[in-house]
Formats: sequence, C-alpha cells, structure tokens
Amino acid sequence: MSDVRNVIIIGSGPAGYTAAIYAARADLKPLVFEGSVTAGGALMNTTEVENFPGFPDGIMGPDLMDNMRKQAERFGADLIADDVTEVDLTVHPKVVKTGDTEYRAKAVIIATGSGYRELGLENEKRLSGRGVSWCATCDGFFFRDQDIAVVGGGDSAMEEAIFLTKFAKSVTVVHRRDQLRASKIMQDRAFANDKIRFVWDSEVVDILGEDRVTGVRVRNRKTGEESTLQVTGLFIAIGHDPRSELFKGQLDIDENGYLVVDSPSTRTKIPGVFACGDVVDHTYRQAITAAGSGCAAAIDAERWLADQG
Ligand code: FAD
Repeated sequence: MSDVRNVIIIGSGPAGYTAAIYAARADLKPLVFEGSVTAGGALMNTTEVENFPGFPDGIMGPDLMDNMRKQAERFGADLIADDVTEVDLTVHPKVVKTGDTEYRAKAVIIATGSGYRELGLENEKRLSGRGVSWCATCDGFFFRDQDIAVVGGGDSAMEEAIFLTKFAKSVTVVHRRDQLRASKIMQDRAFANDKIRFVWDSEVVDILGEDRVTGVRVRNRKTGEESTLQVTGLFIAIGHDPRSELFKGQLDIDENGYLVVDSPSTRTKIPGVFACGDVVDHTYRQAITAAGSGCAAAIDAERWLADQG
C-alpha cells in the first residue's frame, strides 16, 4: 500500500494548517487539500487580526494564513489547492476524491470550516473588514464610541448586539420581522439595554462607503420605504453553515449541521477520522480555538496511527 498516505487533511484554515504543521513535524508527511478558491480559509477575507497571540501589533488575515501555510510546507506537508468532492471514510484505507482523482489514507482530519451567511449585497465583500463584520468578538473593539448596526433576530444576533454595547455608542438591530426569533432571555436582555434600538420589518438593501462603511440603506418590507442608518459598522449575524455536507451519511452531524466529535478529543464515530475547527465548533469560532483543535486533531491522529502498529 505504498500510495497510501498516513494522513489526509481536508481544509486550509487555521485548523487545517495547524494540523498540517503538527502532523508534518511528527513525520507523518500529511497531504492537505486546501480548497480551490478559498485556500487559507475565513481569515483571507479580513484585514487586521488583533487577537491572535504572538502578534502584538496585529497582523493582516492573509499574512497570518500565508505564514501558517509556509510553516506547514517547511516541515514537509504536501499542499494541493483543490476541492475534495467525495469521500469514503467507511473503508480501509479511507478514500478522498478530487473529481476523478482518488487518494487514500489511513487517517483523515476534517477541517472544512463554516461559512458565515451573507446578505448577498454587492458592497458586502468589498467592505468586509472595513466596517462589515461577521464577528463581534473579533472586531467589536474597533468600534469604540461609534454607531453601528447588527442584522439578524436570533440568539447570535442578540448576543452580538449586547456584546457590542460594551464598545459602541449605539447599536441598531435591523430585523426582517416584527418580532425576534431569539430566546426569551436573550430578548429580555436586549430590550433592557438602553444602547440597543430596533428597526423592525426591515432589510438591509445596500451598504454605503468607499473605503469604509459610512451608512446602511434599509427598506421597510411592509411599506417599501427606504432610509439610511448613519452607522460606521455593520455586523451580519444571520447564521453559519458548517461545511459538513460531504460527510453526510458517514459521520454524525448535529441539528445545526456541525460534525459531532467525542469532545474534548477530536475523534468522530469512525476510527481514524478526526474533525476540528469551525466545522465542529458552534461555541467559540475563533482562529486561535480552530488552531488549537487542529493541533489536537493531529496529535489524536498520530496516537491513533501509532496504536495501529
Ligand atoms: P476556515 O478558516 O473556514 O477554513 C476552512 C478551509 O476548508 C478553507 O480553506 C476551505 O477552502 C477549506 N475547505 C472547505 N471545504 C473543502 C473541501 N471540500 N475541499 C478542500 N478544502 C475545503 N477569528 C479570530 O480569532 N480573530 C479575528 O479577527 C477574526 N476575524 C474574522 C473576520 C472574518 C471576515 C471572518 C469571516 C472570520 C473571522 N474570524 C476571526 C473567525 C476565524 O476566521 C474562524 O474562526 C477560523 O478561520 C476557523 O478556522 P477553520 O480552519 O476551522 O475554518
């Protein structure tokens, strides 16, 4: 079985590259599928990352990912910028396909991340990291004493809005309906917070600004009336889609689409298959926690391989 790798890693965000660094340094010669368009993962879409330890002056997201990639390569990880299209994790060795090409490995580490749902507006991507954000924990600090808006009506949106009131002068929640989907306790907390106000029955139809967000256009869905919110930040909190589709029917997936692992380990229900990062984590969703679980996955894989003799 000379063409059988020790370990294949699917994904190239902080979880995938960290798993690659650890697996490569354990002499496992990992093969990493980085994805065809989104190699480097979610941080490729942002500007400054200020909360990744080790960078006292902050670091640009793409630079951080480039560093991780180089570090994985330096220790001998093989990187392929292609999408995995099919897997069979139930056989031995496990099979991973990119189109017609088939690869085989004793162990597989899944680090496919999670997509933040987007509004689908033209200016959204352009102003991402320039006032448009999907993560209050990551970016709230940049909005001290500013007026900002949050889109969404669920628990995450309320959590983000309440958290942001620590920094912002005001937080306007824009919601499509006339009542929130969030749990009663989160609603009560949001309603009791005098920095938060609500714009009901409304959707964001445009994000304004050249280099940075200067305002948000909202349309009332009942009256059709449009108005501009004078805000310098827009937090989009309309949900996440863990990239777990590929593994349906083979691994356990929870009701929100996250892969299920035997926490605190990264083991899935199939021996030799490990999962880490945001495809598993619905709680923290940070680069450092993703990197940490990528490290854990590589160590779990290494120990599992050693036990196989
Ligand atoms: P991801 O980074 O999402 O990477 C997943 C990878 O898997 C991608 O490379 C993708 O191409 C690949 N992939 C998926 N499917 C396949 C497939 N079938 N075949 C091959 N490859 C595949 N966190 C912070 O800690 N600080 C911040 O300042 C911060 N800012 C952020 C700003 C933005 C705009 C966003 C969107 C997120 C931010 N985050 C931040 C969150 C952080 O980026 C994520 O928590 C982290 O990237 C998750 O890492 P991951 O490796 O699990 O997944």
